[in-house]
Amino acid sequence: MELPIITLTSIKTGQLLFITAPVDSGAVFLSFTSTGNLVECSMDDSRLQEAFTTAVKAREKAHAPYSGFKVGAALALKGTGKIYPGCNVENASYGGTICAERTAMVSAVAEQGTVPFEFCVVVTDTEFATPPCALCLQVFSEFCPPDFPIYLGTVKEGIQKKVLLKELLPIPFNAIPE
Ligand SMILES: [Zn+2]
Repeated sequence: MELPIITLTSIKTGQLLFITAPVDSGAVFLSFTSTGNLVECSMDDSRLQEAFTTAVKAREKAHAPYSGFKVGAALALKGTGKIYPGCNVENASYGGTICAERTAMVSAVAEQGTVPFEFCVVVTDTEFATPPCALCLQVFSEFCPPDFPIYLGTVKEGIQKKVLLKELLPIPFNAIPE
């Protein structure tokens, strides 16, 4: 079997190292964080980088006086090329709090309707990347297929992990019987 010719092009983008490796007719984008964690990306790396930057900026706007835990999110839409920012907005009545992921989703739906989502990036300023809470995962399941990709990152380390919605929420609640 003939092995594919692999051309490696490394571009230092902040703390992310992107390597492009053409395989067959397509291209596979591989990114490594500074700690060596590998994330395999199937979309244009510049779009993922734009989403990460959007999430970092959105996080700075978070209203989190009660928890002190600021979260930023960026939701990329299919087709339109749009990326919607989200941040957590807490409330003195704690139940009124909304997470960054849901902020991004409701913002996108309010402007675009229920167009397909492509992927989401979630950024925290913690040592390890933090996944969405179960409530946000349930809302993702309303609009996204089970293999919807969610990229988890930190401000300092960049994107550290790619997970699929079905891995975090294998059996979502569904009020409509199959
Ligand atoms: Zn949440």
